[in-house]
Amino acid sequence: MSTINEISSLVRGMSGHPRIVFDRLFEIREYTGRLVLPEEMRGWVEQKFGDRAAVESQRIVKVTNRVTLEGTLFNSLRGRRPMSRGVNKLLAELVEEHRLGCTFCRAEEKTPADIFGRLHGPGVVTAANVAKYDRWHGLIIPAEHDPLHFDAGRVADYFDLAGRWIRRVLQEAAREGDAGLHYPFLLWNCLWPAGSSVVHGHLQVTVTEGGHYPRIEQLRRAAAAYRERYAANYFEDLFLVHRSLGLVSEEKEARIFASLTPVKEKEIWILLPGAAGAAELDNLALLGRAVGRVLVYLRETGTTSFNVAVYLPPPGPAPESWAGFPLLARVVDRGDALGRTADFGGMELYAASVVATDPFLLAGQMREHLGAE
Ligand SMILES: [Zn+2]
Repeated sequence: MSTINEISSLVRGMSGHPRIVFDRLFEIREYTGRLVLPEEMRGWVEQKFGDRAAVESQRIVKVTNRVTLEGTLFNSLRGRRPMSRGVNKLLAELVEEHRLGCTFCRAEEKTPADIFGRLHGPGVVTAANVAKYDRWHGLIIPAEHDPLHFDAGRVADYFDLAGRWIRRVLQEAAREGDAGLHYPFLLWNCLWPAGSSVVHGHLQVTVTEGGHYPRIEQLRRAAAAYRERYAANYFEDLFLVHRSLGLVSEEKEARIFASLTPVKEKEIWILLPGAAGAAELDNLALLGRAVGRVLVYLRETGTTSFNVAVYLPPPGPAPESWAGFPLLARVVDRGDALGRTADFGGMELYAASVVATDPFLLAGQMREHLGAE
């Protein structure tokens, strides 16, 4: 199996169209960072990192997406850094403790409802967020308290209910005579490192107005500029490059690959080729099943906190073109749910992502796992 440290030779081995597309999309830089270890540190370094030479001479790979200007610095050594572990209590015990007085366990009585009431799916109900961050902001609350207790079928049900909630919001807006532009978004923050304050598992769904959220609009514009310049679909080309490098884990129902410029550890993209307009909402259950399978893989390989974001084109008319924009989910591991060191620092907020996980190893392991289901 290849590693990120071999990317330059892998790219040199590419030829024809995939190579042309790779060069359009990505720029690779490799460096060796050297340092000098004082005598007194050597024992500690060998104990912590295993290999002193790998610390004295460190391989860094910088990957930049030229189209979107997303970029990642890979250094596998960083995964072996000593991290502070704040709480020793087992996560499972902590999750159980939160059952006591958990308002989401009694969602029907203890959470607000939307002005149009609640929608129900199998083992899941909607609520209105008590402190909204957009005019339309709902919660998808499973009956299951444990945020890490799910399977692909349940995640498909959660996504399906989110699709129904979005449709209901559009109906409600139309009923109120609101003919504005509506843009839906679905996200899932699991446990504290991912930004969730409530332990009980829940997804969040919003419909924003006037234009899509800036990050999503930025991606749409980058893809539109790419189409203009190369007369090609950016997302198709992105997938082609990942497939040529061996970063695709599956391409049956959904296209699943380990991103070459992950925003943080283990970022995985799951996409369904674009349907038109509101038809995207019908595909949410299918996307949810694929996302659920990826999340089960991550959970079984140690992930305890994650974010999922689903980029949905507007279901109704929009002045800008969403042609060729897929139904896209991005999943990222947020590290140890009980850890005290935040994985996002100044680099991630303001410069580039710093990542330890090798996307080649991730893709290979995920391929085996998904293939063995
Ligand atoms: Zn609960």
